[in-house]
Amino acid sequence: MALFDLQDRVAIVTGGNGGIGLAMGQGMAQAGAAVVVAARDPVKGEAAVTALESLGVRSAFIALDVRDEASCVNLIETVVADFGRVDVLVNNAGTNDRKQPEEYALAEWQAIIDTNLTSAFMLSQRVYPVMKNAGGGKIINIGSMMSIFGASFTVPYASSKGGIVQMTKGMACAWAKDNIQVNAVLPGWIDTTLTREARLQVDGLHEKVESRTPAGRWGVPQDLSGIAVFLASAASDFVTGTAIPVDGGYSVQG
Ligand code: NDP
Repeated sequence: MALFDLQDRVAIVTGGNGGIGLAMGQGMAQAGAAVVVAARDPVKGEAAVTALESLGVRSAFIALDVRDEASCVNLIETVVADFGRVDVLVNNAGTNDRKQPEEYALAEWQAIIDTNLTSAFMLSQRVYPVMKNAGGGKIINIGSMMSIFGASFTVPYASSKGGIVQMTKGMACAWAKDNIQVNAVLPGWIDTTLTREARLQVDGLHEKVESRTPAGRWGVPQDLSGIAVFLASAASDFVTGTAIPVDGGYSVQG
């Protein structure tokens, strides 16, 4: 199979109905993969399916709440039944709520951990036997600059994204024998609904990011399309357990 070719591959992207998830889906679709979009909002979901189908691949929206175990089980079962295989799982769904650590109610902490971390664990666990029986697969987990750095205003989110990196390493070690590569992507500051909210909540954030990023700009979702193709394809068959920043140099700026 050609290095970056995803013909006949089936990819699931949680939170694939917008932002980074959709851009990753579009990258994989351009390489030939069928892309299943899984999230809560069906209107955004159907629009994403139309955008993906316009690239000449099969796509479908499946309603998913990543905080609900039954919903996660249903997702994997439905994709196997309808598409016959799952080659790639992108654990991208995520949320944040910004305030000082002492201000979070326990339920708010739990909601962020469940959405960003526990969901990725549950879905990976469920997809494992499917990939194993097929002879291999690719799991791509979405971390963050907050997987590396601390910030006063985002402790539960950073905890979940730090957890993503450690979970990725452990699963990579466990499942390498099954030819399943598990990697994390750490996006820098990318212009999406999530960070538009952040810029309203955190004074001066827009300018701070711009001045710290060597590339001199915020990222756009399409900046993540290429890494998705790489990590989903045969090009990355000996790459596992990594956490790859896609950040315009933000994390290496001294
Ligand atoms: P968006 O808000 O555009 O995307 C978040 C996605 O997650 C939405 O598609 C949303 O769909 C989905 N989602 C949220 N909660 C749930 C849920 N309970 N069940 C199912 N789906 C859910 O933001 P981004 O594209 O920026 O975020 C995508 C990922 O990238 C997240 O994990 C985020 O933490 C990460 N990230 C983003 C960065 C950035 O700068 N933008 C930087 C670093 C990491 P719906 O509401 O329809 O369910």
